[in-house]
Amino acid sequence: MAKKKTEELKKKLSYENKNGWKLKETSKDKVFDFAETYKDFLQTCKTERETVEYVKREFDKRKKKQDFFIINRGKNIALVRLGKKSGMKLVASHIDAPRIDIKQNPLFEETEIALFHTHYYGGIKKYQWFNIPLAIHGVVIKSNGEKVDINVGEKDNDPIFVIPDLLPHLSHKLVDDKKVKDAFEAEKMNLIVGSIPFDDEEKEAVKLQVLSILNETYGITEEDFISAELEIVPAMQPRDVGFDRGFIAAYGQDDRICAFCSKEAFFDAKKNSKTVVALMIDKEEIGSDGNTGAKSRFLMDIVIEILKAQNIDATLENVSEFLKNSEVLSADVNGAVNPMYKEVHEKDNASYINHGVVMTKFTGHGGKYMANDASAEFVGKIRKIFNDANVNWQTGELGKVDEGGGGTIAKYLASWNMEVIDCGPALISMHSPYEISSKTDLYETYKAYKAFFED
Ligand SMILES: [Zn+2]
Repeated sequence: MAKKKTEELKKKLSYENKNGWKLKETSKDKVFDFAETYKDFLQTCKTERETVEYVKREFDKRKKKQDFFIINRGKNIALVRLGKKSGMKLVASHIDAPRIDIKQNPLFEETEIALFHTHYYGGIKKYQWFNIPLAIHGVVIKSNGEKVDINVGEKDNDPIFVIPDLLPHLSHKLVDDKKVKDAFEAEKMNLIVGSIPFDDEEKEAVKLQVLSILNETYGITEEDFISAELEIVPAMQPRDVGFDRGFIAAYGQDDRICAFCSKEAFFDAKKNSKTVVALMIDKEEIGSDGNTGAKSRFLMDIVIEILKAQNIDATLENVSEFLKNSEVLSADVNGAVNPMYKEVHEKDNASYINHGVVMTKFTGHGGKYMANDASAEFVGKIRKIFNDANVNWQTGELGKVDEGGGGTIAKYLASWNMEVIDCGPALISMHSPYEISSKTDLYETYKAYKAFFED
């Protein structure tokens, strides 16, 4: 009897987070079905522009009466459901992902092979991008202003592109003996785009052949690359991982997993007296700068639009009041414990895959530098919302203190005097070309955002 009492006391007093598969809240079929829709989204949305287009199409199909959307430069979208009260409930994710961009004058020929010069985008481990199938997505703006969409490498009969690695037999001095960060040079990350010479041409004939194909297919010339945004992304499709199919491997899950969950939560959420917003932004992976990043005034445009729709003048005072009354989930992923590299985490404050959506009070690095540090009051409020809605959640800090760290858009949003906390699932192999997520975490993240929107 005494033992039973002790057990009860322990259960009552201790904090423990649980493996989502052990909870019987949601049926496995429902979780798996949700994951199929997510995989479809990931396969279609490999760039920020493609994500905005996809979400807009969904909005047209699933919108409710009070809903509207705002798009900024084709790279941000905000879904808005108007409420009466001051302030908004905002779930803000980012839809850019680490990738390889092509340079503005990309095409050259070396040893009769045509290649593109590239410049990587965001925090990548360069070696992961050699000798994997790659696709090219993006836009080219021609000199007459016409926009040409390019998407090659995804269909079964499309060609793919490859950044060629050096054979092991000859890589001792140049690669193997160096530190990993020095061994793979950015300027060697060139993409093979052609190999057949143009008929009757002697000099740079392979390059000419590629230019001629591009002109035939897209009507573009070499100068048009200067006004192009072409993104090189993995050509791999999202796939289930493991005999039990519990995980998903796919490109761009940081942070399109949060974007996906936020839009699903937005469309499914019951009406709230506060305005509800799902915002997807760009440029997070390179510091949130630029007119489509979290530091842009686009956020202010959204607030002004909402106030207008509420028939309130967008005076400085009203805008400040609105922001002060706003609550934000900075919807971004966390780094889950990788079983082979447990030592970079402190186990009691690490996030574990399958253990639900992660609430991260602060991000940043050593000494909480560059961090948004959510107030205890706000963390307490979110904790209650999640508990009341039976959301499986956990707390998590990115790595040991002084091990490294990372930031999100939370601190930029918090600078507008809104309440902000980071909240998203944990991924294994984050920032790799083929990141791993858990299907139960995906579903719990959706539930978390929906509960937040409905509170
Ligand atoms: Zn992210």
